Amino acid sequence: MKNLVLLGSTGSIGTSTLKVADDLPDRIRIVGLAAGNNASLLLEQTRRFEPEAISLNDPAGAEELRKLFGVGPRVLAGAEGLLELATLPSADIVLIAIVGTAGLRPALAAIRAGKDIAVASKEILVMAGEIVMREAQKHGVRVLAVDSEHSAIFQCLDGKPVASVRRLWLTASGGPFRDAAEWPQERFGEITVERALKHPSWVMGRKITIDSATLFNKGLEMIEARWLFGIGMDRVEVVVHPQSVVHSMVEFVDGSVLAQLSTPDMCLPIQYALTYPDRVPSERVQTDFAKLGALTFETPDVERFPALRLARRAGEVGGTLPAVLNAANEVAVEAFCEGKLSFPQISETVARVMDAHPVTADPSLDEILAADAWARAEAGRG
Ligand code: NDP
Repeated sequence: MKNLVLLGSTGSIGTSTLKVADDLPDRIRIVGLAAGNNASLLLEQTRRFEPEAISLNDPAGAEELRKLFGVGPRVLAGAEGLLELATLPSADIVLIAIVGTAGLRPALAAIRAGKDIAVASKEILVMAGEIVMREAQKHGVRVLAVDSEHSAIFQCLDGKPVASVRRLWLTASGGPFRDAAEWPQERFGEITVERALKHPSWVMGRKITIDSATLFNKGLEMIEARWLFGIGMDRVEVVVHPQSVVHSMVEFVDGSVLAQLSTPDMCLPIQYALTYPDRVPSERVQTDFAKLGALTFETPDVERFPALRLARRAGEVGGTLPAVLNAANEVAVEAFCEGKLSFPQISETVARVMDAHPVTADPSLDEILAADAWARAEAGRG
C-alpha cells in the first residue's frame, strides 16, 4: 500500500490519477489532495477518498470548505498548504500535476522530507532539473516520470546505464497543424484558440494542449528528459509519430531500439509511476494492432515549429535559460488565449525574451525564480 498525496487533483492528470486510485484500492491510499480554485470538485473528491488533509489555492474557498467539514480532514490553503501536504508525515509518494510553476517548491520539500515524487508538471524539471535530481540523489528518493514519453523511456531503459544509450527518441504527435499542405507557415497567423485546442490524440489541460500545437510541449520534454535520465541534449531527439501509440524509444549503442507502445491513455504511465517497480493488472488500456494498421514517423519541421530549436538551445546553454523559455512561453500562451498574441507570436515572444536574457550558470533556486519573474515581465512587455 502506498500513501499518495496528489497536487492538482482537479485537473486532467489529477482526475486520471484518481481513476487509477479507484482501480487499485489495495495499492493506493489517498492521504492528501490539493486543487487551485475548483472547490466543488475537491469537495466531491474528498468525500470519495477521505484524505487526511486537503488544500485549495483560493483562501476564501478553503475557509468555506473548513466550515463545511467541521471535524473532517484538515483544510489548508495557498502555497503554504501545498508545502504542508508535500511533507505530510504519512505520505510515501507525492504526485505533482499542477499547471505552472507552483509545484516546484512542494517538489523540493517532498524530496527533502524523504518522499518519492511522481512528476507530471514539466516546469519542475525544466526550471530546476539539476537541483531536483541532485537533491533526490542526496535524499535517496525516486523521481518518477508521469509524462507518457518519459515513462516510456524509463520503461525501455529498465535500469540500463546511460553509457549504453546512443539516443533517446521522444515521439511527438505533431499537433493539429502537423500537415504542411493544409497548414503552411503563411496560414499560421489565422490559427484561432479554438482550433489550437483541438488535439488529434490526447485530451489534456488547456496550457499543454496549446503547447502541443506549437511543439513547445515537446521542447519542454527534451529538457525534462535531459535531467531525468542524466543525458546530454545532443542525445535527445524528436520524431513525429501522429498515431501517438509509440510513446518514445531508446536507441542503444549497439543499434537496437526499444519502444513502449499502447493506445494513448494517461492512466497507464500514472499507474506505472505509482506501482513501480511492480506491474499491476489493469484492463483499462487495450491495444489492437490490426485495427491500428500503420504506425508512421516523420522528421519534425523546425521551420514551422521553432519551439524545438529554442528548447534545444535552452537545454544546451542551461543555467537560467530553460526557466526563461518556460516562463516566456507561459505568458505568451496566456496572451494567445486572451486574443492578445497571434499563434506565431508565441514562439517569437519566447525567442525575443531568450535573446534578451543574461544567463546565470549554475543558478540557485532563488536565481531560477528571479529569472522566471524577469522573463514573465519581459514577455508581457511585447
Ligand atoms: P489542468 O489544467 O487540467 O490541471 C491543472 C491542475 O492544477 C488543476 O487541478 C488546478 O486546480 C491545479 N492548480 C493550478 N494552480 C494551482 C495552485 N496554485 N495550487 C494548487 N493547485 C493548482 O492541467 P493538466 O492536468 O493537463 O497538466 C498538469 C501538469 O501536468 C502540467 O504541467 C502539464 O504539462 C503536465 N502534463 C499533463 C499531461 C496531460 O495529459 N494532461 C501529460 C503530461 C504532463 P483547479 O482546476 O482547481 O484550479
